Amino acid sequence: MVGKVMTKEKRKYLIEGEKGKWEVVIGLEVHAQVSSNSKLFSGSSTKFGAEPNTQVSLVDSAFPGMLPVINEFCIQQAIKTGLGLNAKINSYSVFDRKNYFYADLPQGYQISQYKNPIVGEGKITLDLPNGTKTIGIERLHLEQDAGKSIHDLDPSNTYVDLNRSGVALMEIVSKPDLSSPDEVNAYIKKLRSIMRYLGTCDGNMQEGSLRADVNVSVRKEGNKELGTRCEIKNVNSIKFMQMAIIYEAQRQVELLESGKSIDQETRLFDTKKNETRSMRSKEDAHDYRYFPDPDLLPLNLDKELIENIKKNLPELPDQKKERFIKDYSLTAYEANVLVSEKEISYYFEEVVKTSDIKLAKNWIMGDLFASLNEKNISISQSPVTAKKMAQLVDSISSGIVSGRTAKEVFEIMKESGEEPSKIIESKGLQQKSDPKELEQIIEKILTENKDKVEQYKSGKDKLFGFFVGQVMKISGGKANPQLANQILKDKLKK
Ligand code: ADP
Ligand code: MG
Repeated sequence: MVGKVMTKEKRKYLIEGEKGKWEVVIGLEVHAQVSSNSKLFSGSSTKFGAEPNTQVSLVDSAFPGMLPVINEFCIQQAIKTGLGLNAKINSYSVFDRKNYFYADLPQGYQISQYKNPIVGEGKITLDLPNGTKTIGIERLHLEQDAGKSIHDLDPSNTYVDLNRSGVALMEIVSKPDLSSPDEVNAYIKKLRSIMRYLGTCDGNMQEGSLRADVNVSVRKEGNKELGTRCEIKNVNSIKFMQMAIIYEAQRQVELLESGKSIDQETRLFDTKKNETRSMRSKEDAHDYRYFPDPDLLPLNLDKELIENIKKNLPELPDQKKERFIKDYSLTAYEANVLVSEKEISYYFEEVVKTSDIKLAKNWIMGDLFASLNEKNISISQSPVTAKKMAQLVDSISSGIVSGRTAKEVFEIMKESGEEPSKIIESKGLQQKSDPKELEQIIEKILTENKDKVEQYKSGKDKLFGFFVGQVMKISGGKANPQLANQILKDKLKK
């Protein structure tokens, strides 16, 4: 099979065919569900997981004569997202009817935006292992979701659930600037992070709040012209996006190398077989007979409204990253990790408000993250709250416990959520930091090991480790190491 081998030559993602190397070009159309209690044109609830057809108004079921009423909050959410994507907000935009027939689309058309979207061009910065890369945003438009056809409940019938019908979506279209599965991963995560900071989309991919159509083409390495693309519809996890891209790019390379051409078409990704399959040849815009919805006036946005939203935007990941680097002397990598999710950044800042920065970041990015991974929970679900983490860090910096003992304490905290001070107290884990007490222990060791003391004094430096080991052994690992070292050095000099 041609095009099997992937290389990451000079960190560039290429597919090695039999007749040369190929670049992959990817553009994403992300459908992000707007965080809003009610739908785009009706007052029905958008709550996930309700009984089928219990959240459907007459508008959502296209009862004849029912008129859509725009939900102003969804408009604000779209503006907010546009600003978060450094994009131009269009003060004039239009809702169009996109006409097609499907059982889960009772109106016979989807209300969407076509020539005049609410948000124009913008950009997203990706933090990649070899630096940053800017991905262009083509547009963001608002549209309503369709209902859901359920084919697997009954052997001879298809059921339709209209709960999702009319839910507000933002379609965020990227430029074809992505060039590897890893970049797609970084792009989706960054986009999701921005929207979560803004509170405009919860980004929950399992619940379908974020899904993407993945456009893929290939071209010979160095070629400037774009190849013919295929569009893989409605992929709902990053892993599947990446698998679909790898499969699809290889398929295209094979076709092209064998002298065939690519048909521009819409494909679906079969997650069980790990392959893309043709669904239909690509529809053109005119197939949908777009026209302005006569039930809705064009949207004219006040400058003031936009300015007001801009003024009240929260600090976003890129800005927070800069501030973290400056205020806390973090590396770019550390800052990226700590701002990647809003909750992580809050946690970190709460801990360092009172506690040592270096210790805090190491504990959060080390043991805490490992425990979250192990339990597959988010930071806000961790039994080790920021307050408790701060207490643990403080007990290290004030010498109550050693770093090593702190690990023992953390093992208990991550299961029970108990306070570190209580664990240290009840288990008697406090470090021995009383010089008198340590001196006594050390005196005893030196008297009992006179021969080794002689050897040490006559030049066998390595024995120092032996003495430290003895101190630890006798103190049950609780001697303050700095202090023990200091006293040992003093005594062995004399
Ligand atoms: P539609 O798919 O609805 O016709 P567009 O023409 O706006 O919409 O393009 C959709 C997506 O396809 C965009 O994300 C764009 O970046 C991407 N795209 C366009 N041309 C190519 C190409 N040659 N290879 C890969 N992606 C492409
Ligand atoms: Mg498309």
